[in-house]
Amino acid sequence: MGACPLRRVYGLADCNNFYASCERVFNPGLAGRPVVVLSNNDGCIVARSPEARTLGVPMGVPFHHWRAFLEKHGAAVFSSNYPLYGDLSRRVMDIIRQGAPEAEVYSIDEAFIAYTGAAAAAATAHARELRGRILRWTGIPVSVGLAPTRTLAKIANRLAKRDAAAGVVNLCECADMDAVLEEIGVEDVWGVGPQYHRFLRGHRIRTARELRDAHPDWVRRHMTVRGLRTCLELRGTPCIPLAESPPAKQAIGCSRTFGVPVEKLAVLEEAVADYTARAAEKLRAQQCAAGAVQVFLTTNPFAEGQPQYAQAATITLPVPNAWTPELAAAARRCLGGIYRPGYAYKKAGVLLFGITSASAVQMNLFEQDRPFAQQRRLMETVDRINARWGRQTIGIAAAGIGQPWKMQQAHLSPRYTTAWEELPRVRA
Ligand SMILES: [Mg+2]
Repeated sequence: MGACPLRRVYGLADCNNFYASCERVFNPGLAGRPVVVLSNNDGCIVARSPEARTLGVPMGVPFHHWRAFLEKHGAAVFSSNYPLYGDLSRRVMDIIRQGAPEAEVYSIDEAFIAYTGAAAAAATAHARELRGRILRWTGIPVSVGLAPTRTLAKIANRLAKRDAAAGVVNLCECADMDAVLEEIGVEDVWGVGPQYHRFLRGHRIRTARELRDAHPDWVRRHMTVRGLRTCLELRGTPCIPLAESPPAKQAIGCSRTFGVPVEKLAVLEEAVADYTARAAEKLRAQQCAAGAVQVFLTTNPFAEGQPQYAQAATITLPVPNAWTPELAAAARRCLGGIYRPGYAYKKAGVLLFGITSASAVQMNLFEQDRPFAQQRRLMETVDRINARWGRQTIGIAAAGIGQPWKMQQAHLSPRYTTAWEELPRVRA
């Protein structure tokens, strides 16, 4: 492909092993040790450091099956500290947003950046500087992939992670794209799920290069227009808008830039409820449950002379779930905690994270009488009706939330960044 025309370059900044990195920021003794993070109520393993991965600890498995093994290998085990991860995520995202006019949060630990014009030519230098700044200011290591499309930026990011010391890979400068794409399994291409993976394997399409070179008509016939877009993106033609991006695995979000600046809390509440409902629908489509809800709010950092404010809040749910009314109630509480009057807000968003498969959810001892089955059936019905008649057919009304019982969090690290009494201590 050689040098691509530098009209537009997409970057994907992705934190390395985000949850494990958050735990390490305040606990340098963890460097080099296997680290795992557990879901709500210490149920399943939801994050692993590279050392834990190397040991062969799988993702999403019940912790109690692996407890002895982890002890034997000297692993550090943490209960999910979503307020800490949410806060560090906000800091990382703030740094990204301040440095790039066109940045979109994609996940709890990932953001896309679009570079246009002169910025496109300087994208590599910008990414290196951004990466250094994030590491210095937050302690979180980030890798940045740059490419002519988002799908290729995802691939560039994989390559950047492999070489953690460099941390930035720009595929616009790549002289041999064939060799790069040859090395990437088709299942690792953004948006290729397990079903398409099986289908493609059956047709002897095993690498990203083979998918790129498949006939567009054939791809369109068998993989719909979404598959065709992926194919075109692999060829270097950007055609997947962020709003139609495949959902992230670690977090599911919905955020919008407002048409006009918004000042009133009531309006923000409506927007946030709507985003939550959309994100919850995506969550259920993947048969997943979320362990935490984050809401973020920001003014326009590029509007000069206006008072600026950006904040985010995270709430850990008593039990991971996909029940829209409970997620929406949590989102509303987050928003209430961060809203300040007197600012012209440009954007708000909701992120559901701490994702586990719905079947793996471990029920809290105190919540066993929750009507899970009925809630699931009701949500399935709502999703079916909205799929059939349009997404706004059935919406949610603000719903109350029951008393959240204290969770089991036996391995919880302190909330280093959001609670004064839990600041890290330096020994005299
Ligand atoms: Mg990551």
